[in-house]
Amino acid sequence: MSLYKTQQLKVYNSLSGKKEAFQPINDGYVGMYVCGPTVYSNVHLGNCRTFMSFDMIFRYLRHLGFKVRYVRNITDAGHLEDDAGEGEDKIAKKARLEKLEPMEVVQRYTVDFHNILQKFNFLPPSIEPTATGHIIEQIEIIKEILEKGFAYEKNGSVYFDVSKFNETHEYGKLSGRKLEDMIASTRELAAQEEKNSPQDFALWKRAEPQHIMRWPSPWGDGFPGWHLECTAMSTKYLGDTFDIHGGGMDLKFPHHECEIAQAEACNDQTPVKYWLHANMLTLNGKKMAKSTGNNILPNEIFSGENDILSKAFAPTVVRFFMMQAHYTSILDLSNEALLASEKGYLRLMEAMEQLSGLATGNSSSYDFEAWQQKCYDAMNDDFNTPILIANLFEAVKQINLIKEGKATLTTADKQLLENTLNTFVFDVLGLEHATAQGQDSDQLSGVVNLLIQLRNEARANRDFTTSDKIRDELAELGIQLKDGKEGTTFSTR
Ligand SMILES: [Zn+2]
Repeated sequence: MSLYKTQQLKVYNSLSGKKEAFQPINDGYVGMYVCGPTVYSNVHLGNCRTFMSFDMIFRYLRHLGFKVRYVRNITDAGHLEDDAGEGEDKIAKKARLEKLEPMEVVQRYTVDFHNILQKFNFLPPSIEPTATGHIIEQIEIIKEILEKGFAYEKNGSVYFDVSKFNETHEYGKLSGRKLEDMIASTRELAAQEEKNSPQDFALWKRAEPQHIMRWPSPWGDGFPGWHLECTAMSTKYLGDTFDIHGGGMDLKFPHHECEIAQAEACNDQTPVKYWLHANMLTLNGKKMAKSTGNNILPNEIFSGENDILSKAFAPTVVRFFMMQAHYTSILDLSNEALLASEKGYLRLMEAMEQLSGLATGNSSSYDFEAWQQKCYDAMNDDFNTPILIANLFEAVKQINLIKEGKATLTTADKQLLENTLNTFVFDVLGLEHATAQGQDSDQLSGVVNLLIQLRNEARANRDFTTSDKIRDELAELGIQLKDGKEGTTFSTR
């Protein structure tokens, strides 16, 4: 029997503002869409936190036995500098500044994004569609919205008519805004704007002659509006109504509000059952921003090359740090917080390594079954990873007591403890042994360099049996030596 039948998951739904029992539309199957990155620069650590939250959610849903189709898109066109749908396309601007093809920009930062996520031990989504790969689908949706009378064309651009939509639907229901209040508080339309109202947003924008990212459409050459791609890709792969839509809190308005409006304008049914929003990451108590310098890149944490850090931190330690906060809470990153997380992480790993060596007896002095259920209860309560981690440390305490002979456990409980810890630590939280991640890379290079030195000495003494032996046995371990003009270097598999 699948676990989800006995473990009732509850999720906080941003749409209702309540925790609700999670019941997918089709029993046993979950469709989940998460707004992916706009690939015009190195992935932001705050974005990593959002995606990591949904990676954890994906992992737990799978662990419960759901068959999950997880779609996370790549925005490679249409995201303008200003969320209201004005300004230059972020990717086209970067391409212009760096004298690159827009698709070179896209490729470079998509590769960076994947590299970072791999270091953090993310599971790949089931489908990772791109906006430029779905231009036809987006044009079809615009045609449908125009047909239904919720959009208008002006000079080769098409805009969504928010007021018209609001007459028969509720614009603002996700973010809790009222259209009348929005109208009352917004500025007048700027002179160059051709929209009927500042609340309207672009479905299609006419491309000016210098705009390089352009596609033909019934309204002339142009490009799709940013909000549209997510409606096109989510409904294409998950259906007109699907279970979970996720993203960062900052996307709630206008992006997700506009997604709801577009989908409802087309299908007259609300597209998403549960809206989940992950909260932001701050740095030393302040919002992260490149412009103020209060910013850190994931690779700077892994290498320690940033002034705010006293040392490097392994990606899995950063992951553990992020999992120590609930995904809907603001989390503040600092050197002290990372140091504390590293300590905790090492304590947890140490206890897990000692598990197999624990002596067993005729009885257990602790109720491990109740403890296991507490771990599930934490995760079932809107993926409460900090409570889960507190429970994992209760197990660490028990392991240490048993080791000191102050507590006992049966063979069956030892198996349960081992399975439960492995499940939650590695499968659900997605942590790894730091050694497997190259945290010990300094030690490794020290050892290999020592062997290289011994090999050089052997070669100098014409002892080729020894020098070949060192090279071949290292190769067997996956360490390749390369002899060059500057001496010998090595690479690992
Ligand atoms: Zn989106």
